[in-house]
Amino acid sequence: MPETTITVTFAGCGDAFGSGGKFQACIHLRQASLAAPVLLDCGATSLTALRRCGLDPGEIGAVFVSHLHGDHFGGLPFLILDGQFSRRATPLVVAGPPGTGHRLTTAMECMFPGSSQVQRRFEVSVMELEPGRTAEVAGITTDAFQASHPSGAPALVLRLTVGGTVIAYTGDTAWTPAIGEASRQADLLIAEAYYWDKPVPHHLRYVDLLDHERDITARRVVLTHMSADMLARQQQAVHETARDGLVIVV
Ligand SMILES: [Zn+2]
Ligand SMILES: [Zn+2]
Repeated sequence: MPETTITVTFAGCGDAFGSGGKFQACIHLRQASLAAPVLLDCGATSLTALRRCGLDPGEIGAVFVSHLHGDHFGGLPFLILDGQFSRRATPLVVAGPPGTGHRLTTAMECMFPGSSQVQRRFEVSVMELEPGRTAEVAGITTDAFQASHPSGAPALVLRLTVGGTVIAYTGDTAWTPAIGEASRQADLLIAEAYYWDKPVPHHLRYVDLLDHERDITARRVVLTHMSADMLARQQQAVHETARDGLVIVV
């Protein structure tokens, strides 16, 4: 297998509400050139989702957070505390939209009072990604684009370049041209498909992806974050659909 290939494990591919019995967003990326695997989003159910797949939460080097909703970042307090109790020593980077540092501290204090101030053996550092900017995070070139999804802070569409392989991720968002930009010629676009065609504000429907077919130049598209309505119709989709535990190599 070439050095540049990325193994993508959809540990969690569900929506916020457990539709279809699926775990919340938690996508695990591993590549030979990276010092440690990373996550795209870390929903509240992520520790269970990772362990189901036989993946060690303690080896995650960085978490890329698309936006600050609980089904996308609510697993971070558990991930950090798990590292503390399992005597983790390697650093963890949390890279998310502006406001991530404050919201993470607030979430930790809400769920486990005092937990944000504890001295740990490992460093947790927060990098805030400005929409329209490029940053280097844990060996990954990260382009952040502005999504259309109110969450108390800007929401991001992400484009990660890992040793020449490009993965784009919509997070949750209404259709925006940023999706086309972020996924231009990407090896993989992981796209929300919340409903097939029911109008829901601030989210992507499958018909939005079909309507903008010409804007999507990614070589492969995998659908995630599906509601019960979308799950019932997923066989009709022309794109691949994720399921918890799905592993693909790009
Ligand atoms: Zn969501
Ligand atoms: Zn959301």
